[in-house]
Amino acid sequence: MKFPIKTIKRNNQIVAFPKNTSEVSKLVKFAKKSKYHILPIGGETNRVDGTKPQFEKTILIDFKKMNRIEEVDTNNFIITAQGGTLLKTIQKSANSKKLLFPVNIAPNDKCTIGGNISTNVGGLQTLRYGNIEDHVNGLEVVLSDGTILNFLNKLKKDNFGPKLWKLFCGSEGIFGIITRASLKLIPKKDYKSTYLIQINSLNKSIRLLKYLRNKYFDNLTSFEIIFPLPSSLLFNENKNNYNLIIEIQSNDNKNYKNELNKHFSSMNLVINKREDNKAKSWIWKKREILVYNQIKYNFTEKFDISLPLDKWSTFINKIDTFTKNNKEFTPYFFGHLGDGNLHCNFKVNPFTKKNCSNLSKFIYELTIKNQGSVAAEHGLGLKKNNLLKKYKPNKNYIFLKNLKKHLDPDFKLGKNKLFKA
Ligand SMILES: Cc1cc2nc3c(=O)[nH]c(=O)nc-3n(C[C@H](O)[C@H](O)[C@H](O)COP(=O)(O)OP(=O)(O)OC[C@H]3O[C@@H](n4cnc5c(N)ncnc54)[C@H](O)[C@@H]3O)c2cc1C
Repeated sequence: MKFPIKTIKRNNQIVAFPKNTSEVSKLVKFAKKSKYHILPIGGETNRVDGTKPQFEKTILIDFKKMNRIEEVDTNNFIITAQGGTLLKTIQKSANSKKLLFPVNIAPNDKCTIGGNISTNVGGLQTLRYGNIEDHVNGLEVVLSDGTILNFLNKLKKDNFGPKLWKLFCGSEGIFGIITRASLKLIPKKDYKSTYLIQINSLNKSIRLLKYLRNKYFDNLTSFEIIFPLPSSLLFNENKNNYNLIIEIQSNDNKNYKNELNKHFSSMNLVINKREDNKAKSWIWKKREILVYNQIKYNFTEKFDISLPLDKWSTFINKIDTFTKNNKEFTPYFFGHLGDGNLHCNFKVNPFTKKNCSNLSKFIYELTIKNQGSVAAEHGLGLKKNNLLKKYKPNKNYIFLKNLKKHLDPDFKLGKNKLFKA
C-alpha cells in the first residue's frame, strides 16, 4: 500500500512527517479510503494517553516539520504559527517584539501549539489569563474527510457567524487536526515579583488569595498552593505548613512585601523568598521539582480536578476524614488555587485494583457533589474515557457523541479518545 507522503516505521507504527496542511489533508484522505486510523502527535507531553496508538493500522502524524512561525503582526497583535511550533518558540518570538504570549507550562520546550490547543492547556497563569482558548484568534483545521477549513483571523470583533474553530479547542484531535493557528499577543508588563510564602492553614491561604485578587486584580498572575506533605519533601520543613507561590506583574517596580506583612500580621505568614524579574526563578524551579517528586516518592494515583473556591475547605475536610479512616491512601496535593485547579495525588498502599477503584469513586463523586470538574486541565485521552458517560448530564454526553458522528462518521480520528466509541 503506497502512502501519499513518505513515512517511516517507529516502534512498529507508521509515522508521517507532513511539511504543510495539504500533506496532512492527503494523509487523512488516504485513511478515509483505507483501514488506517489517524493520530496527531505533538510533543507527547499529555498525561492521559492521548498519543498512545490503539490500532496496528494507525498513521501517526508527527508535526515536527510543521514548526514555523509564519508571521508576527505587531500592528494587530497576532502571531500565526504552524501546528507543530513549540510553545517556547512562540513565547520567544513574542518576547523579541516586547510582547507576551501569556500561556506557560513547564514542558514548553517540548509541547507544541497544536497539542496545547487540543488539550486547551491551562498552567501557571490561568488565574490572570485564562486557558489557551482565550488566546486563540482562529485556526486552520483538517477534517476527517480531508477538507481544509481556514478560520485564521486577525480581527478582534468578528461575529460573522459563530466561532466554529472553538470546537477544536480542548477536543484532543477527535473533531479535526489543527494545522495552523492565529494567536493573540499582549503587551508585556515591565516588572515581575515572585514570592514564596509559608502559611499554616488552607483557609488563610484562601483569604489571602481573595484579598490579593481584589487589591491587585489583573496584576496578580499566579497563586499556587503546595500542601503540607509535598512541602515538607520539597523544603525539608515542618509537616504542618502550606507553601504558596505568588506572582505579581505590573508596570511599577514595587516591593509588595511590606504591604503583605502589614495586612496579614495576624496570619503567621512568613515570606521566605522574594525574587524580581528572574527569567527562570529559583521559586518556579521548585514548583517543577514538586511535580517530579510525585513520581519519585510513588504518589502515582493522580486526579486533576477543579472546584469553586468556596468549596475547597469542605472538599479538603472530607479528604482528611477519608484518609484518617483509610490508612492505605496518603495524599500529595498541590494546585493552582488561583484558578481552582487541584492536583490530588495519592500513594496507595497496598496498591490493588480494588483500592484504586474505591479511591477514584470517592474523589470523583466528592468533586461532582461540590460542583467541581473531574478533568480540569489535563484532558481525558484514553486514560479517562469512561468519565464523560458517568459524570456528564446524559443529554450533554449524547450531544457530544452525535457531533463526533457527524464530523467523523468512520471514527478515524482518535477512536475511543474522550469517550468509548
Ligand atoms: C511536567 C509536565 C507539566 C505539565 N503541566 C501542565 C500544566 O500546568 N497545565 C496543563 O494544562 N497541562 C500540563 N501538562 C500537560 C501537557 O503538557 C499538555 O497537555 C500539552 O498541551 C500537550 O502538548 P503536546 O504538544 O505535548 O501534545 P501531545 O501530548 O502530543 O498531544 C496532546 C493531545 O492533542 C492531540 N494533538 C496533538 N497535536 C494535535 C494537532 N495538531 N491537532 C489536533 N490534535 C492534536 C493528540 O492526539 C493528543 O490527544 C504538563 C505535562 C508535563 C509532562
